[in-house]
Amino acid sequence: MKDLLEQGAERYEAHQARLAQTASASGDRSASYGRIHAAGTLDTTHGRILYLEDVSVSFDGFRAINQLNLDIGVGELRCIIGPNGAGKTTMMDIITGKTRPDTGRVFFGSTIDLLQHKESEIANMGIGRKFQKPTVFEMLTVSENLALAAKGPKSPWAAVTHRLTPALQERLDAQLDTIHLQNHRHRLAGELSHGQKQWLEIGMLLMQEPSLLLLDEPVAGMTDHETERTAELLLTLKGKHSLMVVEHDMGFVKAIADVVTVLAEGRVLAQGSLDEVQANEQVIEVYLGR
Ligand code: ADP
Ligand code: MG
Repeated sequence: MKDLLEQGAERYEAHQARLAQTASASGDRSASYGRIHAAGTLDTTHGRILYLEDVSVSFDGFRAINQLNLDIGVGELRCIIGPNGAGKTTMMDIITGKTRPDTGRVFFGSTIDLLQHKESEIANMGIGRKFQKPTVFEMLTVSENLALAAKGPKSPWAAVTHRLTPALQERLDAQLDTIHLQNHRHRLAGELSHGQKQWLEIGMLLMQEPSLLLLDEPVAGMTDHETERTAELLLTLKGKHSLMVVEHDMGFVKAIADVVTVLAEGRVLAQGSLDEVQANEQVIEVYLGR
């Protein structure tokens, strides 16, 4: 319990710091097109939420990311595919500040240089990341997990003792709907199926209202039915959030993606519709390992 309280307290402090920081800025956090922005606030006036330019990183002489160029549009749902070891997870590590590239530029909107920020700052600026393994609090209920994940001026105690503000309760209800867990709100997260835990974790990320969501293999280990529901869920998020989804399941990718980027050997090998990239000779070669 101490851990949870500490985490809540930290989140609250971060929120207060953010309020102080943005009080003098011209746009609010969700400001998008056509606003004037102060340095350090998200500016997507040019329609792009994420830019990677000429990014490289080596581990013990091995170039995991090799002069990678990639950008994501505001509200876009981009799928990233590629063989194992292509650098997909490493790319997410770089965007979220977990790994520092050796060279290159990484920008969130056109003004925020992500390479100047720590992992925790990047998360607070609105980049949410879901790792492959679900990391929900198993001993708390679904609702408590969501309440705890919510940012905003609430005490951590309120989150775990059901004393929620009406505004938070409303957001929580909406979130339960989105993640298909309306009828499971009082269950312990530990009792949920693998797929339901993944949805809960996505819901927890959404409670923080991220502008950009990074999902690493979200449907791995899910049943076909869960995979379909996840596709529906991500399609409802498109437009409201920008999403980057790494996935191997081509049926799933086909269901959700407009644009697919194929990564191989740390760089973009092909980009286009799923049909286009699947017909690409070079893509066929890397997948067949020739
Ligand atoms: P993908 O997610 O596309 O399967 P990864 O990004 O996990 O690929 O890995 C790309 C390559 O970089 C792999 O060869 C992997 O072994 C290597 N790699 C990734 N992270 C590290 C690290 N922290 N230290 C050493 N090697 C790493
Ligand atoms: Mg990976």
